Amino acid sequence: MNYIEPHAHMVSRTTADYEAMVQAGCVAVCEPAFWAGFDRASPQGFYDYYRQLTEYEPARAAKFGLPHYCWLCINPKEAEDAGFAREVMALIPEFLDKETVLGIGEIGLNKNTRHELEIFEEHVALATKHDLPILIHTPHLEDKLKGTKLIIDALKNARVDPSKVIIDHVEEHTAGLVLDSGFWAGMTLYPESKCTPARAIDILETFGMEQIWMNSACDWGVSDPLAVIKCALEMRKRQHAQAIIDKVIYENPRSFLSQSKNFKA
Ligand SMILES: [Zn+2]
Repeated sequence: MNYIEPHAHMVSRTTADYEAMVQAGCVAVCEPAFWAGFDRASPQGFYDYYRQLTEYEPARAAKFGLPHYCWLCINPKEAEDAGFAREVMALIPEFLDKETVLGIGEIGLNKNTRHELEIFEEHVALATKHDLPILIHTPHLEDKLKGTKLIIDALKNARVDPSKVIIDHVEEHTAGLVLDSGFWAGMTLYPESKCTPARAIDILETFGMEQIWMNSACDWGVSDPLAVIKCALEMRKRQHAQAIIDKVIYENPRSFLSQSKNFKA
């Protein structure tokens, strides 16, 4: 089965992971800018990270024949100091012309603070100015529902075209909110937290197969770079037609990502 991994933090993975993904049928991988597992001490730390995402990581992936794309931003977890966040954001435009950059992400909220929301809105303005798609991280656990509502309100106030926005890490209680407002929804498959494959398939069966994708979000923590293809096999066990599985793991991400002029699959 061919599939697209639309959200993976490959800078923290090994070459064995690249090899396994390609063997499993992965035809493109997309990496949003995110927290590195530690707070960076200076804007220069982000500058080097953007170079890693736009120069080094695509070259590393290319050794395995896997096209690598990225999204740029300062993530909400490191955006609580708004002055610091703005210094980092000022570095982003010089990277937007790189040929593997898809858009702005993963922006969003972490603890739903006022500063996080300000920086989120400034990222949305940056994306709008450059006519780029947006990838959004929603908060965890008890903060998720409130954070998702704040994010949707801010996007509506900014009059962003919802078809150019994907709101990731949806769960049972937020998928409907996101899809009903016309946004795309992402489901993150984690072995322990977020969605298990069984829950993700339940959500697909409840909310339908339109404007939705699945990703592994594999990073430096406990996560599985093959989660998407394993979930596809689980869909087969539940008797979903191959055309439906292909739509969720390949056609849907391709449709959304093709809104970026740089994405080719
Ligand atoms: Zn992520």
